[in-house]
Amino acid sequence: MAKVTLKEIAHSYSGFSENPDDYALKKLDLTWRDGGAYALLGPSGCGKTTLLNIISGLLTPTKGQVLFNDQDVTRLPTEQRNIAQIFQFPVIYDTMTVFQNLAFPLKNRGRTKEEIEPRVIELAKMLGLEKDLYTKAQHLTADAKQKISLGRGLIRQSVNAILFDEPLTVIDPQLKWELRSQLKFLHKKFGFTMIYVTHDQTEALTFADEVIVMYEGEIVQVGTPEALFERPEHTFVGYFIGSPGMNIVPCRLQGHRATIDGHEIVLSQSYENIPVDARIEIGVRPEYLRLAPPNSEGEGLPVQIIKVDDIGRYKIVRVGLNERIFNVVMTELSGMTGDTARLLFDIDHTNIYVNAQLITGEKR
Ligand code: ADP
Ligand code: MG
Repeated sequence: MAKVTLKEIAHSYSGFSENPDDYALKKLDLTWRDGGAYALLGPSGCGKTTLLNIISGLLTPTKGQVLFNDQDVTRLPTEQRNIAQIFQFPVIYDTMTVFQNLAFPLKNRGRTKEEIEPRVIELAKMLGLEKDLYTKAQHLTADAKQKISLGRGLIRQSVNAILFDEPLTVIDPQLKWELRSQLKFLHKKFGFTMIYVTHDQTEALTFADEVIVMYEGEIVQVGTPEALFERPEHTFVGYFIGSPGMNIVPCRLQGHRATIDGHEIVLSQSYENIPVDARIEIGVRPEYLRLAPPNSEGEGLPVQIIKVDDIGRYKIVRVGLNERIFNVVMTELSGMTGDTARLLFDIDHTNIYVNAQLITGEKR
């Protein structure tokens, strides 16, 4: 297993270019710890597959270097990188049995029958494939085929890293959860360096110790699931993580006073030296907003209640301050009548973004 380092990686599919817009990956610098479980999260087209293919060697980056344990492998072919990669759709041999498919990567490397058999059986059990071990892959369902693919990726214990590229896309939702926990278990047991690509935040947050969020060819944040929730460093992370995502609303800012459409919010920090032409936004998660009855004098922003969605354990309330819309998550709406309310901010969980980047102020 290896530590993987990306040094000033950039990639343009049309070859070297001076125009930044030609780059599917802008400038990336990142180290993946040996034995870490990472998720690479971002919307479709943001460059996740490109990045994985650069790590595995299917692509040579236009700029920068890839290091495995400080050895430069940028120009080393895939076969020599000792990486297992699992793709979105099954890559298996249809005419082989499940056993033969799983055994293939080991057999190919000259392992003996005595080494191969127990490993294949152990993995087949973990993936729930043991009853089909001697069935030809072509007779199996799409789910089972993808499990074989996963198994083929996991069978070798001496790989530098295992890369998963949205591997559960074709898997039935119920099985997804089960397989994800299996992968987590395998990670704990064998300590592989794992990079798991997904556009699904639940998948990313349950699988990984650390999540790398990508947006338009750039890494916008690397952090624990908790950090992504509590302190999104970029407005995109705010929107993308959470359901509903963070409320991000333009505001004016003077020291510790923010105003939204002329209504003031007193912040817990004070912000100085903001460039005059900057785009300033206030960011607060729906969980950190609260509604009070409209008569609660002087406190909070006067809002219109637009819609209440009761989704069981809590309610999502959509409110409007003129054109500004906020989502509020509350368990109780007691004391609320009519369609107006006061919107209250938990100021210790209210962030300020300047040109989409989180800024830190001075504690008051
Ligand atoms: P993701 O995996 O996050 O969906 P990709 O890495 O596949 O994103 O794609 C990133 C960008 O690169 C997209 O704009 C995509 O259209 C472009 N792209 C991907 N593969 C190729 C290719 N083979 N040739 C040209 N452009 C590509
Ligand atoms: Mg992709």
